[in-house]
Amino acid sequence: MSTLEIDRVRKAYGHLEVLKEVSISIGTGDFLVLLGPSGCGKSTLLNMIAGLESITGGEIRIAGKTVNDLSPKDRDIAMVFQSYALYPTMTVRQNIEFGMKIRRIAQADRDRAVKTASDLLQITHLLDRKPSQLSGGQRQRVAMGRAIVREPKLFLFDEPLSNLDAKLRVDMRTEIKRLHARLGTTIVYVTHDQIEAMTLATRVAVMKDGVVQQLDEPQAVYDRPANVYVARFVGSPA
Ligand code: ADP
Ligand code: MG
Repeated sequence: MSTLEIDRVRKAYGHLEVLKEVSISIGTGDFLVLLGPSGCGKSTLLNMIAGLESITGGEIRIAGKTVNDLSPKDRDIAMVFQSYALYPTMTVRQNIEFGMKIRRIAQADRDRAVKTASDLLQITHLLDRKPSQLSGGQRQRVAMGRAIVREPKLFLFDEPLSNLDAKLRVDMRTEIKRLHARLGTTIVYVTHDQIEAMTLATRVAVMKDGVVQQLDEPQAVYDRPANVYVARFVGSPA
């Protein structure tokens, strides 16, 4: 069974159709990258998976369950955004455990989850600091820590590295790849960066104007682009 099925999904804002019958299906442990230029509908699609945007047509299923009408908190997902909205007055530890606290998870379980996540992300030494005392890369790790402790079926990332400088972006790319391998989680990841997509993805959906042009393994997209647009966008040598 697929972990995520996007089934002929459409999105319109009034007369503006931003997604046109998008169908994508991925299995457990897949790392799907939605790749395309700014404005092609990547964030809209991700937000619909998250439940932050309504669905105009079609169906989205997570682990076999239709989620069209479910609120974000009932979808078994965790999302990491480009701007890591950490709570400035809370410590790193408090930021990471906040969601668990709201769900009344016991202190001992919270401590265990924070320890596992912070060890994995190598931020254990930062747990008592405030976000203002962290670098951009460290903040992004904390944002990922918050997502990890939820143990969701699906991780959603919207251009998480685009605010970081070039060197850090490469480091964090490696970090995310390692996390994916260690946790075996299913990820949907939005970027306009071809190299990021090619390095991270097990499956890439190349998008243009609300339409998926090609859905395949990165190597296949590169070696056998479906059309001229894909070839140009991913920089195929052909
Ligand atoms: P991407 O993430 O690929 O850059 P978006 O999903 O943010 O693209 O946007 C896709 C298209 O939808 C763009 O043309 C954008 O202007 C439009 N759009 C996004 N949100 C709204 C909205 N709330 N109302 C009207 N148009 C929107
Ligand atoms: Mg976007």
